[in-house]
Amino acid sequence: IQKSKIMDEDGIRRAVTRIAHEIVEKNKGTQGLALIGIRTRGVPLAERIHEKILEFEKVDIPLGLLDITLYRDDLSTINVQPIVHETKVPFTIDGKTVILVDDVLYTGRTVRAALDALIDLGRPQKIQLAVLIDRGHRELPIRADYVGKNVPTSNREIISVCLGETDKREEVLLLEK
Ligand code: 5GP
Ligand code: MG
Repeated sequence: IQKSKIMDEDGIRRAVTRIAHEIVEKNKGTQGLALIGIRTRGVPLAERIHEKILEFEKVDIPLGLLDITLYRDDLSTINVQPIVHETKVPFTIDGKTVILVDDVLYTGRTVRAALDALIDLGRPQKIQLAVLIDRGHRELPIRADYVGKNVPTSNREIISVCLGETDKREEVLLLEK
């Protein structure tokens, strides 16, 4: 059941643009930055941030991806096992400021798995996190540096993120399970 629209196409575009500006501002430029999207929808979001930074800073930041899937039994949050399937990071992360990008931050377990995978790949100087939606309910001491929108959810609510690249539509909805 759809409860409300959280972002429309313009809202998503403005959030991505703001995050791109915040990344450059917080890091005092683009020196040493790298973007890594978490599949599925973190990848188009990372690509959009990349495009924005190219547009206003004229810098082509390295872009990679991680494929991490959460396996949870009957959608409970007990026994959640993130599995890292694939890593496409065709550049060195040594000394870099790596910005992980995902669509929704929830328990933090996917990000934790991403951090493990990155630390296996090299020695980044810093790792930051950008998410389109923070829906709360963290189970680990993880927070995002850049948030499109904070959406406090109950345990019965989920967020539907639709992006043109993956869903042929642009919207973020709050749904009741
Ligand atoms: P976490 O690992 O923090 O529990 O969950 C984050 C991962 O699960 C993200 O990769 C995100 O795509 C997905 N996820 C968790 N909750 C939601 C949700 O309500 N909506 C969507 N679209 N994805 C979610
Ligand atoms: Mg995901």
